[in-house]
Amino acid sequence: TGKTTFQNFSLKKEILKAIKDLNFIKPTPIQEIVIPFLVKSKQDLIGTAQTGTGKTAAFGLPSLSLTSVENTKTQTLILCPTRELCIQISKDLKNYSKYIKGINIVPVYGGAKIDVQMRALKKGAQVVVGTPGRTKDLIKRKKLYIEFIDRVILDEADEMLSMGFKEDLEFILSKTPKEKQTLLFSATMTKKVREVTKNYMNDTKEVSVARKNIASENVNHVNYIVQARDRYEVIKRVSDMNPDIYGIVFCRTRRETKDVANKLMHDNYNADTLH
Ligand code: AMP
Repeated sequence: TGKTTFQNFSLKKEILKAIKDLNFIKPTPIQEIVIPFLVKSKQDLIGTAQTGTGKTAAFGLPSLSLTSVENTKTQTLILCPTRELCIQISKDLKNYSKYIKGINIVPVYGGAKIDVQMRALKKGAQVVVGTPGRTKDLIKRKKLYIEFIDRVILDEADEMLSMGFKEDLEFILSKTPKEKQTLLFSATMTKKVREVTKNYMNDTKEVSVARKNIASENVNHVNYIVQARDRYEVIKRVSDMNPDIYGIVFCRTRRETKDVANKLMHDNYNADTLH
C-alpha cells in the first residue's frame, strides 16, 4: 500500500481525467481496497467506514466506470439517510463523471417537488441516489424501475436504520433483482445493521477503515474490550501504568459519572465529576 495510484485501477479514462482535475493524487485506504474489488468482483461488500474516509469515491468511481451509457436504464441505486447527503453524493458523482458523455445521475429525496424528480427519471438515469422514503414512493408510482439494477449501495446504513427507514429499505430491496451486487457502508456495525446484512446479503467481503483524523495525528488510540464489571479495574490499571495521565472518562448517565469519580477519589486518585 501507499504506492498505488488511481492509474493502477481499471477505471475509464474519463474518470481518471476528472479525478486529476480534482487533485486526487493518492487513493485513500478504503479506495485502495474497494475500487479494484468492485471493478472485478460481483461479491457483496460490507464496509465499516465513516464520512471523511473517501468512501463516496470508493464506491462511486467503480460504479460510474462500470455504467453502460448506451443503456438508459437504472444500473446503480445508492441509498442514503438524508437529503443533504443525497445531494452531496450526486454532486460528487457528477463531478467524477463529468467527462463521460450520456451518463445521468439523478438525486431523489423528500421535501422537494416530486414531479421534477419524475421528469428527471423519465429521461433515463443510470445512477439514482435516493433517500429511502422518496425512493420507495417513486417505485410505487412506477416512475423508478429497479428490477434490473446491477448494484445497490446502502450508505450510512446505521443512520438509515436509526432514522426508522427499515421498512422502506426492505420494500426497496424486495424490488431489486436477485442477481445483483449489494454494498453496505456504515460507521458502526450495530445489531440492526448486522440483521440487514444477514437477511439481504450473502458471501460478503468485509473491509474496515479508520477515519483519518488530521487534528490528532499524534494521538494513539487504544481500545480494550472488557466486561462491565471489570471496567473500573481497567481504568485504575491504565492510570497506574501512565502516572502522568490526564484524562476524561465518559459515561452514559450522571449516576455513572458520580460512581466512577467517587470510586477514584476513594482510591486516592485526583478526580471529579462533570455532568
Ligand atoms: P467522503 O468520505 O466520501 O465524504 O470524502 C471526504 C472528502 O475527501 C471529500 O471531500 C472528497 O472529495 C475527498 N477525497 C476523496 N478521495 C480522495 C483522494 N483520493 N484524495 C484526496 N481527496 C479525496
